Amino acid sequence: AKELGRNNYQWYSMEMERKMSRSLLIENGLKTALKHHRFHLVFQPQIHMLNEELTGVEVLLRYEHPELGSISPIEFIPLCEQTGIIDEVTHWILTEAVFHQLEWKRKQYPRVKMAINISPLTIEKKGFVQYVKNLVERTGVDPSLFEFEITEDAFMNFTEEVKSHMLELQNLGIRIALDDFGSGYSSLKQLKDLPIDKIKIDRTFIQNVPAIERDQAIIESILDLTSRLNNEIICEGVETKEQVDYLITQNCLYAQGYYYSKPVNSTELEERWFKKMQK
Ligand code: C2E
Ligand code: CA
Ligand code: CA
Ligand code: CA
Repeated sequence: AKELGRNNYQWYSMEMERKMSRSLLIENGLKTALKHHRFHLVFQPQIHMLNEELTGVEVLLRYEHPELGSISPIEFIPLCEQTGIIDEVTHWILTEAVFHQLEWKRKQYPRVKMAINISPLTIEKKGFVQYVKNLVERTGVDPSLFEFEITEDAFMNFTEEVKSHMLELQNLGIRIALDDFGSGYSSLKQLKDLPIDKIKIDRTFIQNVPAIERDQAIIESILDLTSRLNNEIICEGVETKEQVDYLITQNCLYAQGYYYSKPVNSTELEERWFKKMQK
């Protein structure tokens, strides 16, 4: 047993080392990623299920590491947060997003709202609201086209600063959405305490409906609760026709998920969605 213990320990430390060096490799890459154009944005449609019309898109960040290739944001966003580059990365995302909005306006596509994920670490910063304000003033972009999606996590809870900055952003005309509602740290406490315009129900609650009855009871209670709050509600991770039909019977009208579209680049978004809308 002692022998096994030692082997396990060795295996464990080797595994740790392997993970560490991958993280270090990614961290190093991230430091120069902005300069080397290794980030790009993709867009996932948000749909009104009754008429299948596009109402908005969620902006999602993609990162290509020079040696490791494409890396999931689930892995690299926390590294951006830990190394402190998340603010700069978010500024880049916002500038890029505004650029796209102005471009779409110039091309006379219909208005499509953009949901952008913002780390609570960034919202908390003193200069963030001013940064957004300047960006809006400098470019003349319509701030009501933007919605900031936020989630609390293990390392960052919503402080008084976060709350007051949310209010300031709302005063600028930007909407606030509570992301991943019902999962982990995104819960009733946030609904009670935060200025929220929209609730995004986590995909774990959509995954097994209508198949599993217990899950039906849960999602129906969530919808019942959230629908009383005068917030817009959207379900994420909608993958099947059965889910769409079921959610409509539950009076939930907005969805995002692979059933409608995976995240696509801006060219595909224009070709597949905007041009159709113009006709
Ligand atoms: P999230 O904000 O919950 O984003 C939704 C994730 O679910 C996206 O993964 C999306 O591709 C995926 N998804 C969409 N529809 C479906 C579906 O029908 N089924 C399944 N199984 N998955 C679906 P992605 O792009 O890998 O992003 C993962 C997470 O990384 C995001 O979760 C968000 O927390 C974070 N993230 C991504 N981009 C950014 C960003 O620009 N800034 C920040 N701060 N975080 C970001
Ligand atoms: Ca999100
Ligand atoms: Ca989400
Ligand atoms: Ca998430």
